[in-house]
Amino acid sequence: MMNTKILAAVALASVAHAQSQLYGQCGGIGWSGATTCVSGAYCSKINDCNSSSAATSAKTTQTTLATTTRTTSGASQTTSKPTATNSANPLAGKTFYANPYYSSEIVSIAAPSLSAAGSAALAAKATNVAKVGTFYWLDVRAKVPTIATFAKDVRTKNAQGANLVLPLVVYDLPERDCAALASNGELSLANNGAALYQQYIDDIAAQINAFPDVPFVLVIEPDSLANLVTNLNVQKCANAADAYKTLTKYAIKTLNLKNVVMYLDAGHAGWLGWPANITPAAQLFAQLYKDAGSPAAVRGLATNVANYNAWSISTCPSYAQGNAVCDEKKYVNALAPILQAQGFPAHFITDTGRNGVQPTKQQAWGDWCNVIGTGFGIRPSTSTDDPLLDAYVWVKPGGEGDGTSNSSSVRYDAHCGYADALQPAPEAGTWFQAYFVQLLQNANPAF
Ligand code: BGC
Repeated sequence: MMNTKILAAVALASVAHAQSQLYGQCGGIGWSGATTCVSGAYCSKINDCNSSSAATSAKTTQTTLATTTRTTSGASQTTSKPTATNSANPLAGKTFYANPYYSSEIVSIAAPSLSAAGSAALAAKATNVAKVGTFYWLDVRAKVPTIATFAKDVRTKNAQGANLVLPLVVYDLPERDCAALASNGELSLANNGAALYQQYIDDIAAQINAFPDVPFVLVIEPDSLANLVTNLNVQKCANAADAYKTLTKYAIKTLNLKNVVMYLDAGHAGWLGWPANITPAAQLFAQLYKDAGSPAAVRGLATNVANYNAWSISTCPSYAQGNAVCDEKKYVNALAPILQAQGFPAHFITDTGRNGVQPTKQQAWGDWCNVIGTGFGIRPSTSTDDPLLDAYVWVKPGGEGDGTSNSSSVRYDAHCGYADALQPAPEAGTWFQAYFVQLLQNANPAF
């Protein structure tokens, strides 16, 4: 009689053999090439192929973080079917790191001024906002070293049992914000901006590489590709188009790291959700992705960044002007099949930081600057009501302004002087106390 130890060894050997064929296709330790599995299998996470009779696509499930544990797919994968669901959601169960930069804006500016104005109750609520995990914007090169400070903190907290992911926005393309003025950046093509941008990306990659045990989630360049879909009639966008494309590819190739999940910015329903824009947008995302070698860390798209659209709304607001794709849920569901047909991974995150209520004074859907009547929205969470959506996220830190209303500023954009824009408003990215108070008072859910 064969003893149980030998039986177990035989069983393990055959499992190992079965896995090794699949495993090789899925990468393996140190592998940096494409991760596809043999027919009938799929990559449930990097370095781990699983057999599945019904598996059809490696792409939908290949981008899981190496450190991520599967949730719904479990250890035994023989019959489960990878679908377009987020069963391999690399963010599943993670908490977004509440960075000390945003919390210090609240704790040192917002709350004290509310207290000084006699609003103790609002001040107390404000301190709860400081605990919400929001993205940190690398909007100038000088902020890149901050990554290490935050990553050390995340490492420590994760070692103590937290399950944090560090959320960052990559945002420093030359000729940034090419169709508007308020967020024009520090780099220009005429001043060596392309090379400096590559250095910026290399520096971010170096920082991230120094913390292989810390998971990162990156939103790549808000507004940039959307501007290439709709605003090539603006000279600055036309001039920058090639650089935007080349540098976006450089960014997603260079940041294609095992502890990174990336989402390219995809505007919002009121921008690329229009019938004329949605297919060209999907084609552009897919083309760049394929040109960049289909980086495994590109998980999908980020929508509604710094915008106000509801995630899901039953009656379209009047300013949606007849576009049935009037909320972000409808937008991602309209976009997903077109993306999939183009070979782009159709997974999403959506910014709910300022969409808790729909603005009452909004005059046009495209109005984006400090819009009156908005509120904090759904808190960041990887528990969502749509399999296409990996997470509700707060990308725009609520309370940081969208642009100055001072018409003599070089970065003055007319949108920030419209009747539906809260005024007076400070420069983009700086603290806008009245806007923060508006978001807090209108928060839905309330704080
Ligand atoms: C600004 C950035 C800022 C970001 C987040 C953008 O509009 O241009 O400087 O970091 O918003 O507040």
